[in-house]
Amino acid sequence: MIAIPTTSTNTKSLVTENNRGSYWITTFGCQMNKADSERMAGILEKMGYQKAITELEADLVVYNTCSIRDNAEQKVYSYLGRQAKRKEILPHLKLILAGCVAQQEGESLLRRVPEIDLVMGPQHANRLETLLNQVDNGQQVVATEENYILEDLTTARRESKVCAWVNVIYGCNERCSYCVVPSVRGKEQSRTPHAIRLEIEKLASLGYKEVTLLGQNIDAYGRDLEGISKEGRRKNTLTDLLHYIHDVEGIERIRFATSHPRYFTNRLIEACSELNKVCEHFHIPFQSGDNQILKLMCRGYTIERYKRIIEGIRKQIPHSSISADVIVAFPGETDKQFQKTLSIIKEIEFDQVNTAAYSPRPNTPAANWPNQLPEKIKVERLKELNSLIEITAKKRNERYKDCVEEVLVEGTNPKDPQQLVGRTRTNRLTFFPDTGPQGYVYQPGELVSLKIKEVRSFSLGGIPLR
Ligand code: SF4
Repeated sequence: MIAIPTTSTNTKSLVTENNRGSYWITTFGCQMNKADSERMAGILEKMGYQKAITELEADLVVYNTCSIRDNAEQKVYSYLGRQAKRKEILPHLKLILAGCVAQQEGESLLRRVPEIDLVMGPQHANRLETLLNQVDNGQQVVATEENYILEDLTTARRESKVCAWVNVIYGCNERCSYCVVPSVRGKEQSRTPHAIRLEIEKLASLGYKEVTLLGQNIDAYGRDLEGISKEGRRKNTLTDLLHYIHDVEGIERIRFATSHPRYFTNRLIEACSELNKVCEHFHIPFQSGDNQILKLMCRGYTIERYKRIIEGIRKQIPHSSISADVIVAFPGETDKQFQKTLSIIKEIEFDQVNTAAYSPRPNTPAANWPNQLPEKIKVERLKELNSLIEITAKKRNERYKDCVEEVLVEGTNPKDPQQLVGRTRTNRLTFFPDTGPQGYVYQPGELVSLKIKEVRSFSLGGIPLR
């Protein structure tokens, strides 16, 4: 960690014992970042900060950044420029750059935007209070060194009162040739099953009903923890963890993401079919339908293996839903190879697919390859892929028509206050009236049986049965 003395005015003039001013956090990127932001919000509130009504009123602004795609990174620089201008007239404003861009760019960010007070990589999210104390002492701080992630002793300020993310493994030891995550989030660090269970018990005591276990490669969970079973397999696998946390009273649903086809096991499918709280939804990125591209991506599996995993899931849990991530226009991808990706989408009929055109990222092997594809091809392929997904997802959703689905109420539909929104066990977003046939008004956290009446590509509409 680097601490640089600064002449900028510190904010002590605003700080009273119980009120440190207001904060604002903008989060870019994945669920891991969202979970980190919730933890940082918890730390700030414990320190006496209050959530600001708008970003431009806040006394402390955090940008929790994502470097997976170039456009998210560029957006951060424009946000920072706006805040740097504010700081000219509000010198007490604290500006914090957290997350993956912070880790990737480190100290050089201070040269680019000298108004920044704190640059902190994702492994330092739990240390926000210590780092801010150094800022309050008049330093500009850069915290990007490899760090053992301390057990999370803080109470996250979670956006939802019903569903919570629970980090189970940080970092990633894979080396996918397009991915910046290993260089910004560091080596795998699994939390102990005991610490995870304690966090879930705490969530249950606060009224949470659903937890999603999170990891960049969740199937790697536990391989850095000790313990071998009598049968010679690792004891602390994701499957063992699911068994271990399954009986936490009050938690109704358990999800996990993101799976990696290379490490996905039949034992995991069996556990999902046996453990009734584990929801029937699998998010397993396949990235490309072509084996040569998969090899260049260093993914470590073939598309045949991927298809066997999906067959195994559908055989044991026929009503499960499958979602995936796909990248198009990887360097050198031919039209024929792209067509193979489209064929997989048609063949598997995913419930949902997150798509992206390849974007070269710093410190990744593929970024230096000479056979980058032109922007025009990227845009065309992405458009073609997205149109196909819209059709296949709608077709797949047709299976819900007139069926009864259990939905966990998450809150009000932001576009219609008379409607509630929740998800099926299979992770389909579902909208429905807030009042049942006998006048009962549903509340967040309740499980409601709905008859599905409307089927769209990316959501469902239902009517409560009681
Ligand atoms: S598994 Fe591959 S794509 Fe996923 S975070 Fe790790 S390196 Fe990136």
